This record gives sequence, C-alpha cells and structure tokens, in this order.
Amino acid sequence: MPELPEVEVSCRGIAPHLQQQKIAQIIVRDRRLRWPVPEEIDSVVGALITKVERRAKYLIVHTSAGHLIIHLGMSGALRVVPANTPTVKHDHIDLVLESGKCLRFNDPRRFGCWLFSKEHPSENHPLLRALGPEPLTDAFNEAYLFKASRGRQQAIKTFIMDNHVVVGVGNIYANEALFKAGIHPKRAAGKISQRRYEQLVPIIKATLAKAIEQGGTTLQDFTQADGQPGYFKQELMVYGRGGKLCMQCSGRLKEIRLGQRSTVYCPSCQR
Ligand SMILES: [Zn+2]
Repeated sequence: MPELPEVEVSCRGIAPHLQQQKIAQIIVRDRRLRWPVPEEIDSVVGALITKVERRAKYLIVHTSAGHLIIHLGMSGALRVVPANTPTVKHDHIDLVLESGKCLRFNDPRRFGCWLFSKEHPSENHPLLRALGPEPLTDAFNEAYLFKASRGRQQAIKTFIMDNHVVVGVGNIYANEALFKAGIHPKRAAGKISQRRYEQLVPIIKATLAKAIEQGGTTLQDFTQADGQPGYFKQELMVYGRGGKLCMQCSGRLKEIRLGQRSTVYCPSCQR
C-alpha cells in the first residue's frame, strides 16, 4: 500500500510534467473507484494546472478551474506517458494534457479516488479539513505532540497513526519509529514523558525523510510506459520481522495486533 513517502515521491515525479500545462481532456474508463468518479471533474478540461502538491496521502492538482483530489488507495499508481500509449488492464483514468502527454491512473483494487473540489480543499473539503499537521513540517514538533497526548489513554502506536494527530505515519513507520525510540507500542500516549516525545518526534521525521530519499533514487521513472512505479523496499528493523531476532539485543521480537494492525516490537528494548 502506498504510504506517505511513496505519495511524496509520486508528487515530485509527476509535478514537473503537469505544472503550467493545460488540460485537454479527461478520459474516465471506469468510474467505480472508492467513490464514483464525479462527472464534475470534467470542469477542469481547458484549465491550466497551477500546482501539484501532497497533503497527507492525497495528491492535489490545483487548476484555474478547481482542484482534483487524488488518492492512490491500496494499489493505485500514477505515471506520465504519451497520451497515445496503449492502455493496460486497470488504467482507469487519463488526464490528457495539451503537451501530448497524459497522467495515467492505474488501480487494480480500485480503492483509490479522483474527486473534484471547486474551493481550495485543504480548509474546506470533508476529507482534508480535519487532518493534523504534516509530519515533516515545523508544526509537528515535540511540544505539539506532548500536549496533544495529555489525557489520552490510547496506545502510543494508535495515537501517532491517528490522522487527526499527525498525518502520514503509516503502520510500517509507526513500528519502526517506536522501536528506534525504545517505546513500547502499547504504552498509553498520555503516560509518556515529554523527554521521550523529544526523542520520538525527530525519529518519526527522520524515518519518513529517509524513506522519501530512498524512494527518490530507487523508484522507477514516472515516465516509463512499461510497468508500474513500484513501492520501495526499505531496511526495516521490526516491521515484518515478528518472531525473528532483535537487531539491537538479539532477543526475540514479538508480534501482536493493535488496532487491527500488525505490531512488532522488542520486549527488552521497548518499554
Ligand atoms: Zn531488542
């Protein structure tokens, strides 16, 4: 599943091809995504793309006629190809540009979305307006997270994965960051000291930043017509290693379910 780093790398990969281009046509081959693709996305035909940006795991294509909100869901991928490139299975949408290229959306499981918002979506759209700060901005800092955690009984792992608290800390990154910070994933968020939040926050930022950096170098070219941009493999200390040996203490890693998500931790290194 694409996590924040993959979406950020997708954004950086496609933006230079889209920005300052006019939209010639939108071809929707299958409207049945997570929500039906609304007819009103046609309002951007003829409009100029002013900016492409990421908010949480949404890509927002700002145009002179409104805003497209794109989510990759479980299996979505975007690439920029010549508009006449033959389609393959699950190529559901083409955003055709006057340059002769198109942004092509492929999504086998169809949990992604393409929506339209007339208003700037960050403050107005129901999917975006209640989101917490971006993890790689200054708004997400030790004091903020410590304050937000006071009185919270929920497990720290569930807390940092809550999009109202901070966006984009997916399951892999929550597992890895808590291991590196030495914090037990089930510990109540409200019972963790400020000192430990001061360790955790820079680790979360570094974990995501490193994944973005790796993704930028290992991901396939977004303009390759053949194949999909893949999701990057990373060096993981705990995620997917339940029952294996801890890389720090050689004890055995434990795997539990927390909030229905696989959670791997070291009972000795994480307290
Ligand atoms: Zn250990």
